[in-house]
Amino acid sequence: MAVERTLSIIKPDAVAKNVIGDIVSRFEKADLKVVAMKMVHLSDEQAGGFYAEHKERPFFKDLVSFMTSGPVIVQVLEGEDAVAKNRDLMGATNPKDAEAGTIRADFAQTIDENAAHGSDSAESAAREVAYFFADEELCPRTR
Ligand code: GDP
Ligand code: MG
Repeated sequence: MAVERTLSIIKPDAVAKNVIGDIVSRFEKADLKVVAMKMVHLSDEQAGGFYAEHKERPFFKDLVSFMTSGPVIVQVLEGEDAVAKNRDLMGATNPKDAEAGTIRADFAQTIDENAAHGSDSAESAAREVAYFFADEELCPRTR
């Protein structure tokens, strides 16, 4: 297994619930290291561009409206198998299907407001990290 990076977003519902620290703590306990982090209130353009792959989906408008409803925490996580590990910690897209103890099971109720985003592949991770961060904003922790 290689050290890789993934993009994580703590979505507006979880920020509003005041559970930023709890979620970051789960990443740290799983040996993922934060190598970049910022709080942003996304514009329609930023959220729509980030989710461009879903542009034709019926829920796209609702998704953009939710993602711009309040500030989010955008992070780059680094560690062994970071992409899959983050997806495991988050649980299924629909919190109703998410395993007990996962972020989405613990902090979300519905598929449209589901607490967290995580890149779904190494390719998506590279694109998503570059969408939010310049190279010099990343602070490698393993050297
Ligand atoms: P993810 O990779 O697990 O976040 O899931 P997807 O990439 O398939 O979808 C992106 C995001 O769109 C999800 O996290 C949800 O916030 C939202 N979403 C997905 N499916 C639905 C849906 O059927 N209805 C609504 N309202 N939102 C959805
Ligand atoms: Mg996805």
